Amino acid sequence: MKVLVINCGSSSLKYQVLDMTNESLIAKGLVERIGLGGSVLKHEKVGAAEKAVIETSMKDHKEAIAQVIAALTNKDYGVISSMEELGAIGHRVVHAGEKYAASIIIDDTVIKVLEDCVELAPLHNPPNLLGITACKELLPGTPMVAVFDTAFHQTMPAESYIYALPYEYYEKYGIRRYGFHGTSHKYVAERAAAILDKPLSQLKLITCHLGNGASVSAIKNGKCIDTSMGFTPLEGLVMGTRSGDLDPAIISFIASKEGKSADEVINILNKESGVLGISGVSSDFRDIEEAVKSGSERAILALKVFAHRVRFYIGAYLAEMNGLDAIIFTAGVGENDIDMRELITNELNRLGIKLDLVKNKVRGKETIISADDSKVKLLLIPTNEELVIARDTYALTK
Ligand code: AMP
Repeated sequence: MKVLVINCGSSSLKYQVLDMTNESLIAKGLVERIGLGGSVLKHEKVGAAEKAVIETSMKDHKEAIAQVIAALTNKDYGVISSMEELGAIGHRVVHAGEKYAASIIIDDTVIKVLEDCVELAPLHNPPNLLGITACKELLPGTPMVAVFDTAFHQTMPAESYIYALPYEYYEKYGIRRYGFHGTSHKYVAERAAAILDKPLSQLKLITCHLGNGASVSAIKNGKCIDTSMGFTPLEGLVMGTRSGDLDPAIISFIASKEGKSADEVINILNKESGVLGISGVSSDFRDIEEAVKSGSERAILALKVFAHRVRFYIGAYLAEMNGLDAIIFTAGVGENDIDMRELITNELNRLGIKLDLVKNKVRGKETIISADDSKVKLLLIPTNEELVIARDTYALTK
């Protein structure tokens, strides 16, 4: 059975087709500038020498998905003869609130629930829903599954997810920690168990998803018991452009000093802060590391603050779990940034955490990077959220 995985952003759409008989990727692509003019679809058939680039007007997600269907069935660079060959479609959906703790087959009730969750994820759920409704219209007979970023974290105990606010805000508005990047944390935790050759149900893991967005999770006996992102993806670690944790009083202080509304300040915390805000250089760690080479003090500080915050959470989760078997690094920075992994794990040897500096000189490859005598294993595991979505979609629809 072949499964189409779709991840819709506000003006973009990423897709993959996987053959689930052997979980192999057979095609992938990206549509950009949907509804903005200059829309473009870049489609890649695995094994083909060149990408197909389709530049045509796509004024909404429905038109974009129609172009994806045309690319997938194209006689030169397509991978299926007709859409009937697709067994199911898996959609990445960011927020399911407390409604769903696992992936689910999409029907009208699910769509209604996701619409109700829009106020919890106003930037993310609307484009996810656009993708779902477009596929429903264009491919009415194909079953669809929603796979949620929040689902994996639903196992957190109340002491991890309740904020110390008047309790009625949780009851009335659902204000609590939800956590995000759930499919990534789940995937790397399962891979870690396979690499360590131990059941996930007997392991204490800290998974560090360090990309442009970044989060850390504590996974005890296969269940997430805490995670650094909160009600929204703004909380927790320092990120590319997001501040992560800060004193909430800063928001009204900046608002009054700069003559801005609370929403405008939140926008600054989301888009102009993080390592970009501290360094003044870029949100991309490669640019910041270049700036470090030319002596930028603020670039050095940005990297130190980022590493400090990751270590802070590692320490907290180690205490919460009363022990630790492995720390996993994944996503753009976690998989590729050799120096950052060193900065994070430096001087943790009294906690039984010892990096092997030579083994650490690797990028984007599943491997153990801790020293042989490190009590806690350090693992580099490239994430694969699409595979998790395809697996759940296949399991629910086969
Ligand atoms: P992601 O959000 O997981 O796609 O991660 C994207 C981020 O990974 C980029 O913004 C960079 O900061 C970081 N990144 C990617 N490649 C490298 C690299 N070779 N060295 C350092 N950082 C990298």
